[in-house]
Amino acid sequence: MNKELYGKLIFECSVPGRRGFSLPVNTYADKLADLPAELLRKDAPALPEVDEPSLVRHYNNLSTNNFGVDTGFYPLGSCTMKYNPKLNEEIAASPVVAGLHPAQPDDTVQGALEAYFTLQSFLSEIGGMSEFTLNPYAGAHGELTGLMVIHAYHDHNGSVERDTVLVPDSAHGTNPASANVAGYKIVEVKSLEDGTVDVDDLRSKLNDHVAAMMMTNPNTLGIFEKRIPEIAKMVHEAGALMYYDGANLNPMLGIARPGDMGFDVMHINLHKTFSTPHGGGGPGAGPVGVRKGLEMFLPNPRVVYDADDDFYSVVTDSPEALGRISSWLGNYTVELRALAYILSLGADNLAQVGPLATLNANYVKDSLKDVYKLPIDGRCKHEFVFDGLADKSTAVTTLHVAKRLLDFGFHAPTIYFPLLFHESLMIEPTETESRETLDSFIAVMRRIAGEAATDPEMLKTAPHNTPVSGCDDTEAALHPRVKFSDLS
Ligand SMILES: *Cc1c(COP(=O)(O)O)cnc(C)c1O
Repeated sequence: MNKELYGKLIFECSVPGRRGFSLPVNTYADKLADLPAELLRKDAPALPEVDEPSLVRHYNNLSTNNFGVDTGFYPLGSCTMKYNPKLNEEIAASPVVAGLHPAQPDDTVQGALEAYFTLQSFLSEIGGMSEFTLNPYAGAHGELTGLMVIHAYHDHNGSVERDTVLVPDSAHGTNPASANVAGYKIVEVKSLEDGTVDVDDLRSKLNDHVAAMMMTNPNTLGIFEKRIPEIAKMVHEAGALMYYDGANLNPMLGIARPGDMGFDVMHINLHKTFSTPHGGGGPGAGPVGVRKGLEMFLPNPRVVYDADDDFYSVVTDSPEALGRISSWLGNYTVELRALAYILSLGADNLAQVGPLATLNANYVKDSLKDVYKLPIDGRCKHEFVFDGLADKSTAVTTLHVAKRLLDFGFHAPTIYFPLLFHESLMIEPTETESRETLDSFIAVMRRIAGEAATDPEMLKTAPHNTPVSGCDDTEAALHPRVKFSDLS
């Protein structure tokens, strides 16, 4: 990578008069007189003037600076950056899929609807739920949809006083945010020293104003909530529902089901657990499942199957359903990728995902816990959290460790989340990484811990090998420069 070229904007490569492309002769020139004068351009547009090789190199260099799971290890805790199999992409890009229009009559898209219905059914089986909607576009969108279902359920029962949602203090930030958008007040439930929900604190906060308890299990610390049957019983006895944040269902696949744990409503992120592409604001999907008795509140459109006629159809209207929460049926090609993932693994291999993800996480954790501070010891599930370096005397922080990792071609783990610890460094290797990749990550993490003792100043100015370094995150967030003219 040419550092000289990188960081230059295409405008800065401009040389007056240089051309890389000739426009075809304008055969409409004599028609210009027919256009209103005020619509005609008076000056030529200020486009960059570059030759073709410079242009091609400029964009190719930029494209290689993009880090993704296809270019390196990406242990972003809670976000499950597992490998996205290319088979999924082939299926999603196939002309029979790409050429579909969502408004086609049902009888012309029976195969597409069957695939959609099959995924609805698979997710219901995996989650232990009665029915799933595939409409929501993201995890947070799924949470909002699920909470709206809960709202509709309480309204239906006349429990209008239920205006509060309980959220553990270890929850993902989207939980309280979604509850707020759904019109609820949020009350936080404390965690115990071992990272699990404090059941006594929960009990003291349950009353007939509570609409739901939102939980992640294993929680964001990667710890399984062993008291879940007791918690579900308490919440149900108080007349509230149990919401399961299944954004990251990796450790549970084929092993334990939220429905069997006593949850009533859940969402799953296809772009985490089910290997569909993730990040960059690209399309995601956050399907929502409900237990028996809540199906009628799910939003439309949904796909139903009539076994007598062997016919799939799209339902757009039903009396108790929420209004639309998305256009059409959701991100269809994302859903197909997830279906391809489930089918290509099969039930037996799907049940291997959790044990392998758990093994990988424990391997990395145990290989590093002498040099990084492990606040909650013991067996984790798919992810775990360090509280910065074990040796706090050097003032090297989690941010410095994360930046230094970039020098070695690794994406940083999730940092400063969960908020339970000051220096959270949340690592999720996923099941798709090889032993060799994990070993080289461990070696680099140990090396960084060594550097913290011997050369802390170098660490604090990392990264040193990336195209851009020393960015001022605060300045970038407060005063983003998003136009070329802002830069000069
Ligand atoms: C990622 C995540 C979410 C939010 O999902 P988005 O698709 O980013 O909206 C919610 N909860 C947990 C636990 C997550 O990891």
